[in-house]
Amino acid sequence: MDLFEYQAKQLFAEYGVPVPQGKVASTAAEARAIAEEFAAAGKSRVVVKAQVKTGGRGKAGGVKVADDADDAQAKADQILGMDIKGHTVHRVLIEEASDIAEEYYLSFLLDRTNRTFLSICSAEGGVEIEEVAATNPDAVAKVAIDPIAGAPADVAAEIVRQGKLPEAAAQGATELISKLWDVFVGRDATLVEVNPMILTGDGRVVALDGKVTLDENADFRQDLESLAFAAEGDPLEVKAKEKGLNYVKLDGQVGIIGNGAGLVMSTLDVVSYAGEAHGGVQPANFLDIGGGASADVMADGLEIILGDGDVKSVFVNVFGGITACDAVAEGIVQALEMLAARGDDVSKPLVVRLDGNSAERGRRILTEAGHPAVRQAPTMDGAAAQAAELAAK
Ligand code: GDP
Ligand code: MN
Repeated sequence: MDLFEYQAKQLFAEYGVPVPQGKVASTAAEARAIAEEFAAAGKSRVVVKAQVKTGGRGKAGGVKVADDADDAQAKADQILGMDIKGHTVHRVLIEEASDIAEEYYLSFLLDRTNRTFLSICSAEGGVEIEEVAATNPDAVAKVAIDPIAGAPADVAAEIVRQGKLPEAAAQGATELISKLWDVFVGRDATLVEVNPMILTGDGRVVALDGKVTLDENADFRQDLESLAFAAEGDPLEVKAKEKGLNYVKLDGQVGIIGNGAGLVMSTLDVVSYAGEAHGGVQPANFLDIGGGASADVMADGLEIILGDGDVKSVFVNVFGGITACDAVAEGIVQALEMLAARGDDVSKPLVVRLDGNSAERGRRILTEAGHPAVRQAPTMDGAAAQAAELAAK
């Protein structure tokens, strides 16, 4: 789960990582009130920062320095409601402005390939690290972190040395890095990124931006509720989560429902491949309804997928195992009835491929039900081709 910048900075502050003071506003008037508080404390310059879970806000005009409360209100008004890479800005962070002398890059992440943790550090921060890595790879240090030893002072100092941070920032950066490791471990994160980590005019090292991804597998030992981490991601993903579905929204046009993560993943590949012949049609989502695909689960899945405006056709790919295909077929028929009875639109074409346990009986059930949106295909490749073709129409 990705956090907003302001949430990331709350965590940083808890662990003693220096961050600018700030508060969140969801209206321009609130932004003004916060800026007035800062002004009363002698800090009239503030930064207004769009809170969206995507990078490049600065470039997109989502980060603006304001000179006073009037200006903060005006800038908040501009930024609220803005669309940044498909994310609508509902909140802005109002922060005391920082006096930036230099910008660096620092992160900890899980390095799956090498089965360890990694710190990335660079004296060239503020821009995308991928860009620095491409144009000036020597400026990007990658330091493997032993999970047991972690990043105490000596390791942090080595990260600073390899990242070629200047002497003026060495002490502050070393302290910040050790504390950031504590955040990473303490909160079960898979990524903590500070870009930029800055050196201020008066020589302090501060986390000016924060990106944190938490490992949802550790939810059971983390108190996420208290941090009000109500997932504000894609609305369909939020809804799917409420219903306990394994759903990931993608950018394509063919809705996918399957049973078993492996089958669903190969379905995505097959649809993607078939889509090449139809102008680059792609899968619209990942949805694994798991074993025991009851009518309710099927209805929940179809509801989410049919509610996706990008979806033009749906491919239901089921291999009957413990859950037999006839039960799945009943589930599809009942789900379509349930959704239609509720007034949902169930006219998008559904290509169903049933194989495995009781496939024959399942197919017969669908044939007899004769739902106008449903068509069947005997093979996975055939079904993918049909679904891609229907989506391209
Ligand atoms: P991102 O573009 O989404 O990564 O947002 P950041 O929080 O990293 O901000 C982008 C850039 O805005 C930073 O690299 C800084 O150059 C600039 N910026 C952010 N906060 C301040 C500030 O307090 N003072 C000044 N002068 N610039 C800032
Ligand atoms: Mn940044």
